[in-house]
Amino acid sequence: MRLHLDYNTQDYKPPGKVDRSVRSARILNFRTKDYSFLRFYTNIADLIIRSYGHHNLDPLLPLHRLELLQIHAAPRVNDWSQLSELPRLVLVQMTIAPGNWLYGKHQVVTSFAPLAQCHRLQTLVLQGYVPRDGNLLALAQLPRLRYLSIDDVFPMSQLARFAAMQPDVTCSLLNPYRLFDRRCKKCNAGLYALNGADAETRRPLCPVCNEARLRRHLDKWRNCQKTRN
Ligand SMILES: [Zn+2]
Repeated sequence: MRLHLDYNTQDYKPPGKVDRSVRSARILNFRTKDYSFLRFYTNIADLIIRSYGHHNLDPLLPLHRLELLQIHAAPRVNDWSQLSELPRLVLVQMTIAPGNWLYGKHQVVTSFAPLAQCHRLQTLVLQGYVPRDGNLLALAQLPRLRYLSIDDVFPMSQLARFAAMQPDVTCSLLNPYRLFDRRCKKCNAGLYALNGADAETRRPLCPVCNEARLRRHLDKWRNCQKTRN
């Protein structure tokens, strides 16, 4: 059974006792600031919420069977520590409102580290979020992680170390540079954007005309991989 709530179901009333038949829930633009009704659905494995109005993630705590979690826009939540108590999570996708993200705005949360306790995580998409503690490497301990999507706000030292610790994780930022969708005006070679928020330049470089700068960046990246932290 799937629970479906949206802006047309504002007359919804919680069941009053636990309903174990519900395995998935779609809560899309449902106008409430109180998500405590989730405690009646302790068997939910798959939860998608768009526009989460609650001010913290406490309502997720009874959902011990949660495996797939997507929350698209939770503007009042700045602490993810509750996620550390959901050990079955395999996929987590947290995104801010696309308008904000496209305009380069970020939402600050205390830390990404609570997710490091979800040892089954394979797919992690954190779009538009920045951790106040700046710590990305906490996630490099996740033993089953295979896909990571993060914003380009982390220093080269952390990205390079992460790539060294988790060579099997697919993530466009876990490489020294990524292909850029423009070509060099001089020689027509495909341009590269350097990864690392503290890279020498934020301007895309040409592998032919800017070969020396690109090599310097590559050397720095490799040095970061050798040093601990
Ligand atoms: Zn060129």
